[in-house]
Amino acid sequence: MGIIRILDEHIANQIAAGEVVERPASVVKELVENAIDAGSTKIDVSVEEGGLDSIRVTDNGAGIDPEDCETAFYRHATSKIAEGRDLFQITSLGFRGEALPSIAAVSKVRLVTSNAQDGRGRKIEIEGGHLRVNEETAAPRGTDFLVKELFYNTPARLKYMKTIQTELGHISDYMYRLALSRPDIAFTLRHNGNSLLQTLGNGDALQVIAAVYGTQSAKAMLLFEAENMDYTLSGYISRPDYTRANRNGMSLIVNGRYIRNYGLMQAILRGYHTLLPINRFPLVVIQLSMHPSLIDVNVHPSKLEVRFSKEQELFAFVEEEVRKVLQQEILIPRPAKQN
Ligand code: ADP
Ligand code: MG
Repeated sequence: MGIIRILDEHIANQIAAGEVVERPASVVKELVENAIDAGSTKIDVSVEEGGLDSIRVTDNGAGIDPEDCETAFYRHATSKIAEGRDLFQITSLGFRGEALPSIAAVSKVRLVTSNAQDGRGRKIEIEGGHLRVNEETAAPRGTDFLVKELFYNTPARLKYMKTIQTELGHISDYMYRLALSRPDIAFTLRHNGNSLLQTLGNGDALQVIAAVYGTQSAKAMLLFEAENMDYTLSGYISRPDYTRANRNGMSLIVNGRYIRNYGLMQAILRGYHTLLPINRFPLVVIQLSMHPSLIDVNVHPSKLEVRFSKEQELFAFVEEEVRKVLQQEILIPRPAKQN
């Protein structure tokens, strides 16, 4: 008799949760990405005690159809891709259908959502993966997600959480990057009632840079725009005399997705050439758009890492364009400060 069996959905979700939901910031990231994918123009995030007590994400996006509300919490349930070849043409932030079941497996979730304009919506409550409530409720169009007591049923994971300040640091880090990646969306972040971030959503990337890094930093930025057959680049890079001690201020956004890519970062730094002091790094917020077939985002569950199909061409292009912008800046010195 064989001894291999297929794990039931509940255990599978708990296993997946270990990978998808590393800490409160992962929940924030997944919920906000869902809100973005739903076409929201306003996304409010409110967390208590570093997100360990509660995380609430409210959006004004498309909402979820009442019939889909329960299904959304099943594994591999997604409205974003339908067939294999869609994997090579991904335009949404999510597509794996893993976030909601994973989050719901390790917390107490309340979802209130409506995809209609008539004030009618749906409420779902799930505790540790078990459905408790699925009923009609009054709700404005959009989605309101509340996640309480994260890891309450996985004490080992809970014990591993760092201080509230550290967890909050990870959350604000994600929120900053998401806000930088989407200047067309109005974001707010609150912690224990205090406002930590507010962007206007008017499409002005410089406003978001000012909201995240302060107005002084925003003043040090140079407009960065370029285009070739495959790629469109836009954003801001800091003047070489404005530097930081690490690379954390270098944000790369590809097709609206914040990514990490060492090669691309190096290309930017090569563009600065000898203009940067040793061990100093620029502030960079660059949006890069390309046809979805030129990038593979299905490399890692966090989707932070991507592969470019024409890597060398892309890096050379970016390096060259950074150099051009800086050369212009040096050749045309900015006006002396008025006293
Ligand atoms: P994925 O984002 O990979 O599709 P998720 O588990 O994160 O998987 O979400 C499952 C589905 O639930 C999504 O495909 C989407 O249809 C729906 N959904 C989740 N959050 C929202 C939201 N804020 N607004 C509208 N639909 C949502
Ligand atoms: Mg998702």
